[in-house]
Amino acid sequence: MSIKSHCLCGAAQITVEGANDAGVSACHCYNCQRWSGALFASFEAAARNVTYTGPITRYRSSQIAERAFCATCGSNLWIRDVADGSPYDLMAGLFPDAATFPLTSEIYIDQAPAYVPLKGDHPRKTAAEYEACTTAVKGDTP
Ligand SMILES: [Zn+2]
Ligand SMILES: [Zn+2]
Repeated sequence: MSIKSHCLCGAAQITVEGANDAGVSACHCYNCQRWSGALFASFEAAARNVTYTGPITRYRSSQIAERAFCATCGSNLWIRDVADGSPYDLMAGLFPDAATFPLTSEIYIDQAPAYVPLKGDHPRKTAAEYEACTTAVKGDTP
């Protein structure tokens, strides 16, 4: 099984083969708000399962992660730790097949704007709670 996506202009195409984490995580950190316009909703896929073509530009958005976008239309595509073999956190909105994925987690809830409350009983973590359980994200907030 595979699921496919493309950017707004169609030049950048991403395919995810095989199993992926069929659940969506939401991040309300300030970087993700700037990047996405509101919140970053993504699902994770193993690096070996992700292929892409097109004019994709990647840049280092923090000490530990890169973000990618289509150089033609500017659609944002993914965030990924730069360490070898790291999984992709892919923009859920690019993939029509991800529309039925449930929301499974929400982080940086104390930084979320008032206009994006999300429903559900999924786990929620504040910035302090999230950063206490991972050292990887320290420094990703400007
Ligand atoms: Zn594009
Ligand atoms: Zn974030």
